Amino acid sequence: MSFGTLVGVDKSEIIKAESKLNSYVRIIEESNKELYRLAHTDPLTETANRRALFADYEARSKASTQFHCFVSILDIDHFKGYNDKYGHDFGDFVLKEFAVQIRNQIPPESIFSRIGGEEFCVVDFEKTNMNSRRNLEQALSKVQGLQLQTPITESVNISFSAGIAEYGVDGETLDQLLKNADRALYYAKANGRSCVIPYSADLFEMRDTTLIAKVDSD
Ligand code: GH3
Ligand code: MG
Ligand code: MG
Repeated sequence: MSFGTLVGVDKSEIIKAESKLNSYVRIIEESNKELYRLAHTDPLTETANRRALFADYEARSKASTQFHCFVSILDIDHFKGYNDKYGHDFGDFVLKEFAVQIRNQIPPESIFSRIGGEEFCVVDFEKTNMNSRRNLEQALSKVQGLQLQTPITESVNISFSAGIAEYGVDGETLDQLLKNADRALYYAKANGRSCVIPYSADLFEMRDTTLIAKVDSD
């Protein structure tokens, strides 16, 4: 904006007003950026939140006609027990540590987001189901190797279970893919936990309206 064409007004005052206005505009722009960041970030783990996940997925799926991905849900095993035994702060510490480890293990271009209490989503752009699964299994083995120091003297190990759904095979929208990844996760939990299971329609059978994993639930 310029006031250069006004007549009969002290030019230095105009310059001052102009510079003030520009600094207000900059403050508003910075505040908007910060508001956007806060609205898209999980405050505890500083990962993307569910809103950011959907926005990022939408943007990437529209950006290319060759779009393809795998959507996984990772759920920390027996997490409630850490809260119950060592306190909520230790539970928070586990969540933060888990998020750091997974982010470091997955391909850098992947989307990583906290979608619930101790549930995280990974969207990766691997070419094959095998690669996507292998990445998560490597992350699992890394996480299992951590020794997390509790407020009581001993340290503990953690693990997670995960379900994977493939774009174009198990769904097209993020909602559908999350739903099927969650079904595979349910199977992973029922199958003893600490494992990564790709979704497959044959893993399940319908009884009435309830989806039953073909294993004994614990
Ligand atoms: P499973 O192996 O079947 O996944 O069992 P789980 O104990 O991990 O799962 P469950 O759903 O029973 O418990 C999840 C717990 O996570 C319950 C809730 O209190 C806790 N939780 C959710 N959000 C937070 C958080 O931000 N911080 C902490 N410390 N706990 C949280
Ligand atoms: Mg859970
Ligand atoms: Mg859990």
